[in-house]
Amino acid sequence: MKPFAYVIAQTPESAVELARNQGRFIAGGIDLLGELKEHLAEPKLLVNVKVLPGTQEITPAADRWVIGANVTLAALAAHAGLRQTFPGLAEAAGEVGSPQMRNIATVGGNLAQHSRCWYYRHRDIRCLKKGGATCYAREGENKYHSLFSGATCLSPVVSNLAVALTALGASVVVQRGAKPATLTMAQLYESAWENPRAHHSLKPTDLILRVEIPAVAGRRSTYLQMGEKSGFDWALVSCAAAARVEGGTLHDTRVVLGAVAPIPWQVDEANAWLEGKVLTDEVAAQAANLILRDAEPLAHNAYKVPLARALVRRALAKLVT
Ligand SMILES: Cc1cc2nc3c(=O)[nH]c(=O)nc-3n(C[C@H](O)[C@H](O)[C@H](O)COP(=O)(O)OP(=O)(O)OC[C@H]3O[C@@H](n4cnc5c(N)ncnc54)[C@H](O)[C@@H]3O)c2cc1C
Ligand code: SF4
Repeated sequence: MKPFAYVIAQTPESAVELARNQGRFIAGGIDLLGELKEHLAEPKLLVNVKVLPGTQEITPAADRWVIGANVTLAALAAHAGLRQTFPGLAEAAGEVGSPQMRNIATVGGNLAQHSRCWYYRHRDIRCLKKGGATCYAREGENKYHSLFSGATCLSPVVSNLAVALTALGASVVVQRGAKPATLTMAQLYESAWENPRAHHSLKPTDLILRVEIPAVAGRRSTYLQMGEKSGFDWALVSCAAAARVEGGTLHDTRVVLGAVAPIPWQVDEANAWLEGKVLTDEVAAQAANLILRDAEPLAHNAYKVPLARALVRRALAKLVT
């Protein structure tokens, strides 16, 4: 680890200003400290953003809930009102890592975490994501990589919250320069599809301030994942779903897969096809077919297709029970 200076920011504006000269934001530090130890990041200055005013609260309201960037995942998972209104989000937070990690990890850090690709995390390998010429995963060990492999970097988004918040139609407010800007969840990750160097669409000085989730009357949500271990590990595949269920029929359904693409993966055609449907095994299976239609498994990750199919069916079934 190289020496660095450390400062605790008191306002979003000063945090952004401080990060300008090779600084990095640090919240819980779970992801960033790993990168520092592995020499993947060598900032001159760590800008602690954890005590910024107004970033540690969960604020319910009739039309939308506001979740501060520094709310911990443990607080999200345990919040009684949130578990009732957005169960899918509480479930996604509760599945992250271990209790010790959830006590420290923050919403902002979880959304902005970097790739877990083992080639990227190896200090001596310079792949596309680090400005090199090759994606070593494409012809190499790609067991944990993307199923939707049209992007040049095959490292999938692994943030549980990204998947759950996409299903809930959330947006993210960031401090960008002197002003706040609002990004949809799709905008927050679209650069990771287009640009192999990007983990998400945030610039180094974009500071996540809060997440806003529309409160839709009668909407249900859920989150499911499958992994090699039941704890202390990322999902092999995850699935979040949200819908209004009226008289047994699905409305405004959103089904989103995680760990299968550099972005949270949803297919508009599948969501539209579910509109007004009564859920049966055939309907769920057809939705899964549509969502997975463009999957292009790599040499070692075809096992993700049946996992994703099963998760879509189970998530939809959980919504209507
Ligand atoms: C063993 C292990 C298992 C894990 N399993 C899972 C899992 O199952 N699911 C999952 O989702 N995650 C998992 N994680 C990842 C973990 O959840 C994240 O590392 C953690 O949530 C990051 O939060 P943090 O507050 O510690 O972020 P930090 O490490 O402080 O920051 C992470 C990144 O976000 C940036 N950042 C921090 N705050 C902000 C902000 N407000 N605005 C903009 N950028 C910011 C930092 O500069 C850094 O690049 C796992 C991690 C480990 C080590
Ligand atoms: S998947 Fe992305 S991070 Fe992994 S080797 Fe390829 S370019 Fe690098």
